[in-house]
Amino acid sequence: MPNTADRSKRAHIVLSGVLLLAGVVSTGCSGEARDAGQGPGAGPRPQAARSGRVTVVYEAQTVKPEDREAVALIRNSRVLERTADWVNRSLTLPHDMVVKVTAAVPPGVTDAVTQPDGRTIFVPPPFLTEIEKALADVVKTVERPAPIPASEYNTDDLTVLSTEFIFGHEMGHALQRQLLLANLGLEEDAADGFASFYTVNEVGPGPSLAAAVLFDEIARKEGTPTLEGMSSDHPVTQQRAFNFLCYLEGSAPKKYQQSLVDSGYLPKTRAPLCPQAWAMLDYGWWTQLQPHFSGAFRGRGAEEQKKAHERLIAETQALAKRIDEIRSGQ
Ligand SMILES: [Zn+2]
Repeated sequence: MPNTADRSKRAHIVLSGVLLLAGVVSTGCSGEARDAGQGPGAGPRPQAARSGRVTVVYEAQTVKPEDREAVALIRNSRVLERTADWVNRSLTLPHDMVVKVTAAVPPGVTDAVTQPDGRTIFVPPPFLTEIEKALADVVKTVERPAPIPASEYNTDDLTVLSTEFIFGHEMGHALQRQLLLANLGLEEDAADGFASFYTVNEVGPGPSLAAAVLFDEIARKEGTPTLEGMSSDHPVTQQRAFNFLCYLEGSAPKKYQQSLVDSGYLPKTRAPLCPQAWAMLDYGWWTQLQPHFSGAFRGRGAEEQKKAHERLIAETQALAKRIDEIRSGQ
């Protein structure tokens, strides 16, 4: 995880395998072809009697021996099923969605990807192994960041938690594409935003913190951003790590002031903007998803949307009050 106050303390070991991960995590999930299999302007289908279902399938027979450990870790954790269950409970989808943990992927797929129609998410086992290897390296070489409990600062927990966040990113793509959600920014930003929205609200701080640790490690291996990196449809890797921390901090600023801000992981220049940024993201996703709430979720979802709306108004007013202070501190 980035620590702007104290980078020099940490020793790092460069493993060549992680470089591959760096490339694939940061650039690979954008979807190679953008045609979504529905004509332009088709819009979401009218709600049918039957909603599409998200299912998670492990194609164990395709998994190579060297990837079995990482696949077993994720399978036993049930983090993919947890996300799928939330979508199944909360939303009405126009189509089924299948999440395949499989080595039988389309040509060129090396990392977690969402197909352009949002109906299939591939999670290749070697991708999970690469995450596990990168985090094994982190645990050995990087001092534990203050906000991560000692009990979770191990390869297995960090792998499970960061995979939950990355899967949230893919689910963000799948929802945007199936529901044809209106975006006011880049789809990749919105996919990261869904990962924060879902995990912060439904899981807790672990996935955001573990993903920040992983992306910080990837950024370090990438080195100075290249022109190719900066022209990607993804934000620069290091920036994504700070975005994950910003949304988390903004969701409960008092709770994270000491462990994230005072400790230097989230810069004091960024932190004051985060409560309003989180409020906007939270309101944005609840509002975008509201027309697609399942019958069973409609009541609770409407309450969440209303609460998020009130919070956005309050945080925007609070931001207006301290804007001069923020500007003078930059
Ligand atoms: Zn993506």
